[in-house]
Amino acid sequence: MDLLNTLVEKGLRREPPTREEALAVLATSDDELLDVVAAAGRVRRQWFGRRVKLNYLVNLKSGLCPEDCSYCSQRLGSKAEILKYTWLKPHEASEAAAAGVAGGAKRVCLVASGRGPTDRDVDRVSKTIEAIKEQNEDVEVCACLGLLSAGQAERLRDAGADAYNHNLNTSEGTYGDITTTHTYADRVDTVHQAQAAGLSACSGLIAGMGEADEDLVDVVFSLRELDPDSVPVNFLIPFEGTPLAKEWNLTPQRCLRILAMVRFVCPDVEVRLAGGREVHLRSMQPLALPLVHSIFLGDYLTSEGQAGKADLDMIADAGFEVEGAGTATLPEHRERGGCGSVCGSGSGSAAGAATEQPVEPVEPADEAPAARTDLVTVRRRGAGTDLAPNA
Ligand code: SF4
Repeated sequence: MDLLNTLVEKGLRREPPTREEALAVLATSDDELLDVVAAAGRVRRQWFGRRVKLNYLVNLKSGLCPEDCSYCSQRLGSKAEILKYTWLKPHEASEAAAAGVAGGAKRVCLVASGRGPTDRDVDRVSKTIEAIKEQNEDVEVCACLGLLSAGQAERLRDAGADAYNHNLNTSEGTYGDITTTHTYADRVDTVHQAQAAGLSACSGLIAGMGEADEDLVDVVFSLRELDPDSVPVNFLIPFEGTPLAKEWNLTPQRCLRILAMVRFVCPDVEVRLAGGREVHLRSMQPLALPLVHSIFLGDYLTSEGQAGKADLDMIADAGFEVEGAGTATLPEHRERGGCGSVCGSGSGSAAGAATEQPVEPVEPADEAPAARTDLVTVRRRGAGTDLAPNA
């Protein structure tokens, strides 16, 4: 298949595909799926081998958010029956983080609901970061606290944070349909602030919110332009009690095509399979490992994940290995700072134009099956409860 050969060659050279090529990946048929996975897998192996990095979420503050992100179970007016609690104390968060690290997590993601932190919140989180680093200096800490104000990224960095997460979530064109209380530009600005402070930027998307293929390609090319080190790909968990509760648009095959497309557009970036993995990929989860470089261990923010032991077994059974603390996550050229001149050409039409191949016509993807509302399990355990996390 000329399309896949072209995408592999470009991925190995860190060149972006064209928008048409990215769209063609999303439009491949189920018959072509294993070829697509194998092709994207060659790119993944080039930059990340067979390593899988494990990340662990600690929800520092859950629910009661004043923002109205339609996909979110913690949003203003959400009727989802999730845990709601205010800030965990540093020692509580540190204990929760330790459980993830004991399960093999290399990065701990400290997340808090809300529009963005106050300076007092940054103080609290700084103390939490220090408590975690005191216990395990090698663990990477990523903060995810919403929109940042001037100086806050620097304070988090000084407290020991390694990274900051703020997702674009969806394309600029559809952002206003998903959220009205802040803008796409606000989100881009926060990612820039994190980068300017020297934090490793983490920014990704949510698929399955009713968007068109063009929107998915738009947001992934925007992410390439933004040049984060990691790109989490979430698949919408349609919580009852949120405006997107009826959006069941994803099949395991569709999820794999999306992950492959992200890998081709962001070949040397830590693509992370995030929320919705178990709900939408189900028994096909191992086929995502040749596409992504990292996954979350244990529970998500407000929903349960697969047991950590099952994740570790899946990684070993599929012939992959958990990335250790002493191993650099990113390829050497990115660890040196940025991905060089071949990155950042978000239109996909600049670098590599001379080698473009015609795109073969492909069969349209199959129709989505009926909703599987039985698959969503609201988080009942983990940080903030008196029950142990499941890592
Ligand atoms: S995504 Fe964040 S800002 Fe938006 S409603 Fe949820 S917790 Fe609030």
